[in-house]
Amino acid sequence: MAQCLFCRIAAGEIPAQKVYEDDAVLAFRDINPQAPVHILVIPKAHVESAACITPENSHLVARCFQVIAQLGSQLEGGFRVVSNCGPNAGQTVPHLHFHLLGGAQLAVQMA
Ligand code: AMP
Ligand code: ZN
Repeated sequence: MAQCLFCRIAAGEIPAQKVYEDDAVLAFRDINPQAPVHILVIPKAHVESAACITPENSHLVARCFQVIAQLGSQLEGGFRVVSNCGPNAGQTVPHLHFHLLGGAQLAVQMA
């Protein structure tokens, strides 16, 4: 989608600190990190949110989680994966993304 921020990052139109890229998935550092390591993992194809995962596109989620496993396994002590969906969860970018957080003890409370 032409106006979507993460589609534009995936297309290379907006710079990002990329940490992983393949044909279907991009991972890059969050511009406003909430933990010592805060990476966003996105499918390159536009999917609006976790509410829009279907049998047709769920393979993209699996691809994202393969990358999350690869990157997260390098984080000593473990990591957290978060996907905000819709306004109550505070989703600000309407392109499916998984926050990969780690590098320190994270807050026990999640909400
Ligand atoms: P969410 O609030 O779950 O939709 O997450 C969107 C995330 O995108 C936030 O954590 C932002 O800090 C991050 N973000 C917004 N713009 C950029 C950008 N240009 N590069 C990297 N991360 C960004
Ligand atoms: Zn998009």
